[in-house]
Order: sequence, then structure tokens, then C-alpha cells
Amino acid sequence: MSTKYTITCRRCGGTGAYNGMTAAGRGGVCFGCDGRGVKTVTRYTAEEKAARELFAQRIADARAQVKARARELGGGRRNSELETSANYAFGYLRDEAPDRFLRMLDSVEAGRLDDVVRHLAAYWDNRHTDPPSA
Ligand SMILES: [Zn+2]
Repeated sequence: MSTKYTITCRRCGGTGAYNGMTAAGRGGVCFGCDGRGVKTVTRYTAEEKAARELFAQRIADARAQVKARARELGGGRRNSELETSANYAFGYLRDEAPDRFLRMLDSVEAGRLDDVVRHLAAYWDNRHTDPPSA
């Protein structure tokens, strides 16, 4: 099981304050710890590390496949509207709908790339036309 522990921020020595120059002038909140003076670190077991690396690789592979297929379907032009929509949706889906994101990874790995690209594009379009739900 992963363990979490707290360390003193090395950038500010635990003060939470930054004393150098910034665009806004001298000093400010430490950007290393957001002014908290401490940072939380997670330590993973070797098994967890391996699983995390495998998952990251699945994501990278799926993203590359989705982009390549979206480019083909979008007429072969680099950064066509379809490629851009699918790529943005890919990133947002992971944060906004993790369950759907996992199903999408399965679909990519099952070879249903055209469906995935179509659904991602629709997801992106809806994201931009729906009124904010907040
Ligand atoms: Zn700090």
C-alpha cells in the first residue's frame, strides 16, 4: 500500500514565503508549496509503481492511436478540427469522467478507434455548447 508523508518545502525552508523577485515585485507565496511550508509525498510499492507505469503507457498508446486515427478521419491534415477535438476531449475525459475514460481505453485496445474518435469529438462539442452546470 502506498504511504503518504509530509516533508518541509526545500524552496522556502518551511516558511511558505518566497523572497526573490517576481513579475509582481519582490516576494510572495512560495510556488513550491503554495505557501503551506510543507509538501505531501506519496511513496508507492514496487507493485504500485509498475501498475502506474503500465497505466501511463496504456494512456500514451491510446492517445497516439486516437490522434493518428482522428487525423486520418479529418482528412489527413495535421491539427484538423477533428484531431484537435479528439485530443482535447481525451485529456478532459480523464479528469471529468474517469469511468468513461477507462471504458474508452478498453475500446481503443479493442480496435474500436473510429467509434472512440466520433464519441470524443461529440464529447468535446457538447462541452462547448452546454451551459456551465455550476
Ligand atoms: Zn515552500
